Amino acid sequence: MMRVAMCITQEHDLRLVALALLVCLIGSSATIQLFGRIRSASGQIRLGWIMLAAVATGTTVWATHFVAMMAFRTQAPVVLDPLMTLLSLMIAIALAAPGLAIAAHRRTGCGLAGGAIVGVAIALMHYFGMSAYRVDGIVTWAWGYVAASVLLSVTLGGVAFYLLTTPRAWRRTQAVSVLSLAVAALHFTGMTAMDIAVVKLGDGLSDLTMAGLAIATAMASLIIVGCAAISALIDGHTQGESYRRLRRMALHDGLTDLPNRMSFHEELERRFLMKDGRACMAVVMMDLSRFKVVNDTYGHHAGDQLLIALATRLAAIVKPAECVARLGGDEFAAVVSYDRPEELTDFLDRLRAVFATPFVFDRFTAAIGANTGVALAVHDGFDADALLAKADLAMYRAKSVHSPEPCFYDAQMDDAARDRRELVAELRDAIETEAFELHFQVQAAVATGEITGYEALVRWKHPTKGMIPPTAFIPLAEESGEIVPLSRWILQQACFEAALWPNRHVISVNLSPKHLGDPGLVDTVRTALENSGLSPERLTLELTESAIIHDRRFALEQLQALKAMGIGIALDDFGVGYSSLDVLRSVPFDCIKLDASFVAEIEHDEQAVSILRSVAALGRTLNMRVLAEGVEEPGQLAIAAREGCAAIQGYLIGRPSRTLMDPERVRRTMMPKPRSVPAITSAA
Ligand code: C2E
Ligand code: CA
Ligand code: CA
Repeated sequence: MMRVAMCITQEHDLRLVALALLVCLIGSSATIQLFGRIRSASGQIRLGWIMLAAVATGTTVWATHFVAMMAFRTQAPVVLDPLMTLLSLMIAIALAAPGLAIAAHRRTGCGLAGGAIVGVAIALMHYFGMSAYRVDGIVTWAWGYVAASVLLSVTLGGVAFYLLTTPRAWRRTQAVSVLSLAVAALHFTGMTAMDIAVVKLGDGLSDLTMAGLAIATAMASLIIVGCAAISALIDGHTQGESYRRLRRMALHDGLTDLPNRMSFHEELERRFLMKDGRACMAVVMMDLSRFKVVNDTYGHHAGDQLLIALATRLAAIVKPAECVARLGGDEFAAVVSYDRPEELTDFLDRLRAVFATPFVFDRFTAAIGANTGVALAVHDGFDADALLAKADLAMYRAKSVHSPEPCFYDAQMDDAARDRRELVAELRDAIETEAFELHFQVQAAVATGEITGYEALVRWKHPTKGMIPPTAFIPLAEESGEIVPLSRWILQQACFEAALWPNRHVISVNLSPKHLGDPGLVDTVRTALENSGLSPERLTLELTESAIIHDRRFALEQLQALKAMGIGIALDDFGVGYSSLDVLRSVPFDCIKLDASFVAEIEHDEQAVSILRSVAALGRTLNMRVLAEGVEEPGQLAIAAREGCAAIQGYLIGRPSRTLMDPERVRRTMMPKPRSVPAITSAA
């Protein structure tokens, strides 16, 4: 160590040594910079960066060596072999290239191995360079120092690139220092190894010439290395810029430049973790109302214009603790971090103000609104997804009740609505996969006990919930409009099954009010009859008065067309709901079905019996059979028979089932044999 220090201080021009070290430091820094580019590139571009980095490494090592040699002072005359000098540069470049390529691999050990190869390149360059340095004297080598210099170069080279295996800024600074140290340590230890015995004093290169050569070499090499480093810098910047642009594109909505769904979700998750230093957080979901009208009337370009203008207004009202995003289409969302509830109220007020003034454009003016749902953390949800879903549910409610005011999530109301929506979605699938079956409930004539027909009652075979009764899904199907396709399937299926029955019983099918309003109904019925081969007289359609009340004229037209085909029409659930005599007068019903709620009372309530009697009389007058529904007890049957009902249906004679009833059993239930009275025997 001492000898090396002595060699530097006593045998070198210290100014030129400083210059050499400067070249070494700048060159090493450029090498590390270029090395970073190799890592971020692939294919041919990677190869290009390897070449450029190898040139920078070779030039640095070579120039450091050259300038340091010029700093070396000896009494003996010195000449330089230009060919060997050039060859030493080529060797450095050629060997640095594979070293850098290996070091750039991300596999463990590659950094160390590649760096060691660079260390070998530095050493080889030095000793080749020394052979170009022709000195007129006796040169002896201290081989221990030679070995030490090579060992230092290889080890420090390896360490320098090993440090770069973890991508940290301070690691790069360390790597630059260690690489510089590798070059410098090799050179000066190598110089210490060399001893020159001066044979004759003479005129070799003068000090001035050497200094000039050193400065010129330093400048030329710095220009080369500098150019390479600048190109790395520009490339890094451009890549960083395009990365930032791509990231912005990925996280922002292209049309409005507001954060998109993905970045909103990220923001929400971030706030859940950090809380943003605020006590509370709310998620606000917005769905635009009347936006579709603008799109439909003025075109999509106008819709886009409106969304951009709205986004500008929204962006203008947000405060630092708030963030507004466009989730897609006409759906916007916001997250608000706050300490006091008034801050949230204030945000909602500002939001309301955004929609208060219409949006005025050259071609049109649009007054839009928003249905808003709010969910509060952690009251309504413990994570981003839960809170978003709850705010969404609250927004749905605001939308369904057309509320311009924000709706706050309410578990009772919103969860029920969600369950209904889910059931509607499942119902849609069930209709597609025909996951239903029909059960049949027997109807029998009071006078004879004969089976007159069956009523078809639908059931939903749900994969997880089991058999769902029609009362749980028919109203839902009516609301969502799924009733028409479902009703079509029921009609076809009922006709199909009835056509296969051994007895020519009538099949009664319930017709929903919505289906009666469907212009395709008559065709559907005709097709169902034709496809199944069921004769029209064997089909009866049951409908309630509400079906006729809606669009009375059209309903009557439809019913007349159906009657003309020979189909029977029954008035279902008579006595509840509208019950207008006018309906009875205008529609030629074949049968009136007295609602089960009356039948349930007739054993105990005289008034119910009076109604039953009146309806039976009405039926006789209008020439319509009266059927009592929901007969469960023999007593109820007896009263229905006494008051003049023509037929009954109810659990007494049979529950709805997939299989048909045994006629004999039905008759026995309808007409029980009078109890045999024991004969009176007189004891004589
Ligand atoms: P609904 O047309 O009044 O059908 C009679 C309902 O009363 C059936 O219930 C039947 O199982 C039940 N019932 C029959 N006898 C008795 C009895 O003695 N006691 C009691 N407590 N109940 C009895 P279900 O099958 O649950 O059907 C309920 C309602 O769903 C039907 O009332 C009808 O409005 C509707 N529905 C059923 N199937 C269809 C269908 O295929 N299409 C349409 N649109 N609606 C249907
Ligand atoms: Ca019915
Ligand atoms: Ca009924």
